[in-house]
Amino acid sequence: MSEELWQKYYGQPNKMYGNKVQFGMLLDINKCLACHSCTMACKTTWTSGPGQENMYFNSVSTQPYGKYPRRNGANDPAYFDYRFSNLYQDTPKGTYPKLWQFYLARPCNHCTDPACLKACPTRSIYKNEDGIVLIDQDKCEGFQYCVRACPYDKIYYNSVTKKSQKCIFCFPLLEKGQEPQCVKSCVGKIRIFGNLMDPESTISKMIRDPSLGVKPYDPQTSLKATHRVINEGERRQYRPDFGTIPSVWYVPPKNIPPEEVEKYFGFGMKGLLDEPHQVSGPTKMKDI
Ligand code: SF4
Ligand code: SF4
Repeated sequence: MSEELWQKYYGQPNKMYGNKVQFGMLLDINKCLACHSCTMACKTTWTSGPGQENMYFNSVSTQPYGKYPRRNGANDPAYFDYRFSNLYQDTPKGTYPKLWQFYLARPCNHCTDPACLKACPTRSIYKNEDGIVLIDQDKCEGFQYCVRACPYDKIYYNSVTKKSQKCIFCFPLLEKGQEPQCVKSCVGKIRIFGNLMDPESTISKMIRDPSLGVKPYDPQTSLKATHRVINEGERRQYRPDFGTIPSVWYVPPKNIPPEEVEKYFGFGMKGLLDEPHQVSGPTKMKDI
């Protein structure tokens, strides 16, 4: 993302929701171990209660699965991957010895233009002043329009409480000056968390400058305090073609065919990002 694009995208308050802070995350796919420490840290913190058995606010799935039959003519290699997380996992693509796969860790994207929010008939979903997308549990009536609308499958219905629930970016921890559980627990140190709208934050510097890698204990970089190793390289969003403008960014896998990178992380840098506030809604609704 160029400086010019950053100014357009994050250098001003969100035109639709007014937030002047947008918390986001940058994950270096190349370093994920698929250890699921993040998933378990999240689950034991937020989704270990009644009705939450199948909720994973943070998930890690092996990509691609490749063998799952596509339905309804969906000509989309990633579509079923996130819908049926971990089905047929560890089935590499390609022909030996040129096989490839990668691990995709995903929290909610806390989108700039959230499809879940727009779909809610009771106005229970809102973006808070930090750009975090939340569901007011007192107002939610469990219609599940949000569950169907989120193209990333990141809202879950609790059949015990009859409410929808989702990742909250650990905002109670943020208020105590701590990072989210998935960031703190990451064994691979692949995650950087911060305010995308702050020009001085580590994450915004790294998204604006793809040549900026964070190296641990490097006395030459002002970013040494993070003690995390993020590779240099283009920063992209996962499936930006859905049009919700995710706040979660990735360093895409480097050792897979470039056309495959485009399938998962394509269109972001030259398409939708050029006019980030013109997007009117998701390009795809699920067929549940
Ligand atoms: S990823 Fe889905 S649940 Fe999260 S803010 Fe975007 S549309 Fe809403
Ligand atoms: S804790 Fe970090 S390295 Fe382990 S699966 Fe999660 S994102 Fe990947």
